[in-house]
Amino acid sequence: MYRNASELLEATKNLDCNIWEVVLENEIKISDRTASAIRGQMLETFSVMQNSAAFAQESDIKSISGLIGGDAKKVNEYRKNNKTICGDSVNIAISRALSSSEVNASMGRIVAAPTAGSCGILPAAIITAGEQIAASDEQLVNALLTASGIGQIIAKNATLSGAEGGCQAECGSASAMAAAALVEMYGGSPDAAFHAAAIAISNILGLVCDPVAGLVEVPCANRNAMGVVNAMLCADMALAGVTSIIPFDEMIEAMYKVGRQMPVAFKETALGGIAATPTALRLKTEIFHK
Ligand code: SF4
Repeated sequence: MYRNASELLEATKNLDCNIWEVVLENEIKISDRTASAIRGQMLETFSVMQNSAAFAQESDIKSISGLIGGDAKKVNEYRKNNKTICGDSVNIAISRALSSSEVNASMGRIVAAPTAGSCGILPAAIITAGEQIAASDEQLVNALLTASGIGQIIAKNATLSGAEGGCQAECGSASAMAAAALVEMYGGSPDAAFHAAAIAISNILGLVCDPVAGLVEVPCANRNAMGVVNAMLCADMALAGVTSIIPFDEMIEAMYKVGRQMPVAFKETALGGIAATPTALRLKTEIFHK
């Protein structure tokens, strides 16, 4: 078992393999299941991700509170009918990330990878990048395995929880997991995958958790859109040879320390950030006095 990124990287070097292979071997050992059983279960999980990433692209759904819904469809229609600024793949990814977030906020079925609040980032990244290279089911599962290895390391050495570390820990971790997965999916090295993950965290470092009315809706859905784009750009940068000056293990230690130094108002309590704005307070009163 690897305890951190440097041990996982060392294992990939010793075995001359990818991150996903070490993660799969480890999972076989700790779960006492076969590789094909693990892969089968991950493929089922992936199909839930595909459904949540697609559903609200075509359907006008509303969250239980009514605060969000319909934005995934808007972005999908916008990118189909217009020349966009960011290009089609980025806009499809944004629409997919929003879709999963809207499905989550309307009590639909999502995969909390790593959390429900950040559930849109990983599916949108893997589906969109996978589509571009016509990835096989095997490659898609490999990408999930890579992502889970990054998530395990963050969970072990820092936190994935907004209540403990702010949104940097939720959307930042999801973005890092996705960035590393995309790098390996596109043939990049384990080293490059960890550089992408480290840059992804550094770009979101310090992001507070400030859900309006205490609901995982605003700004959560939009942060999922940001998280997937961050993952895509970090993966492309790492594949181009850009490296993170700060290694991944130190980056997540920094993220954890920032989280611990954050006032409680910025850790899912809805007492600070945009949750404390006059408009957010008015919306909270309206929602809970309906
Ligand atoms: S703002 Fe808070 S609740 Fe919303 S996604 Fe970020 S960490 Fe989760």
